[in-house]
Amino acid sequence: MSTIAAHLDDVLSRISRATADAGRPAGSVRLLAVSKTFGAQAVRDALAAGQRAFGENYVQEALDKIATLKGETLGGQPLEWHFIGPLQSNKTRAVAEHFDWVHSVDRLKIAQRLSAQRPTDMPPLQVCLQVNISGEASKSGVTPEEVPAVARAIAALPNLTLRGLMAIPEPEDDPARQRAPFRAVRELFDALRADGLALDTLSMGMSADLEAAVAEGATMVRIGTAIFGTRDYGSRA
Ligand SMILES: *Cc1c(COP(=O)(O)O)cnc(C)c1O
Repeated sequence: MSTIAAHLDDVLSRISRATADAGRPAGSVRLLAVSKTFGAQAVRDALAAGQRAFGENYVQEALDKIATLKGETLGGQPLEWHFIGPLQSNKTRAVAEHFDWVHSVDRLKIAQRLSAQRPTDMPPLQVCLQVNISGEASKSGVTPEEVPAVARAIAALPNLTLRGLMAIPEPEDDPARQRAPFRAVRELFDALRADGLALDTLSMGMSADLEAAVAEGATMVRIGTAIFGTRDYGSRA
């Protein structure tokens, strides 16, 4: 078994245990493998171990990897690419043309551009609205107060499907204190659904806090380090 396959196994066990501990149905949490800074071979190793959905943060690095891996499949299905990094206006076209999902939609203007630039012969782009749950001006995402209006506006755009919310809380080592921000995002999500939006995705939880996120209702966890190892940003082209 490759190291990546063994790590994937460990992460899937963590997810299963956290899902069961929360009294949630088995299989209700999807794993997104965050492959940023790692090469195409790392993605192939994960694919060979049964992982089909990959998350990327940097547009050019991702486009190179997507091109290299074009045609590779798992059980006859193509790889699924999720953009999860900060997205500037001048990069929306490449993302709209090459990704299946965007988790990091952090303002209406970005969603409008993605919708306008999504090729009409492709399925709608699946998107999440990123919420700034830590309340820092430096963080991406709309404020909790802005979420309902922005979510409604995005849900009305033609070439996107709004799937839910995404958040990246401040790192917090104490597991007992990791849950509060995730709970706040889930409450926003529940309120949107109660208000009639058909959402099914809560993208939250990373290597260090996936258990807390699953306990609070995450449906997709984004895991990099625990699968691929420590990132070396210095080697990134
Ligand atoms: C890098 C990254 C991750 C993965 O983080 P790990 O701690 O390595 O699991 C998840 N989400 C986003 C938005 C990221 O940028």
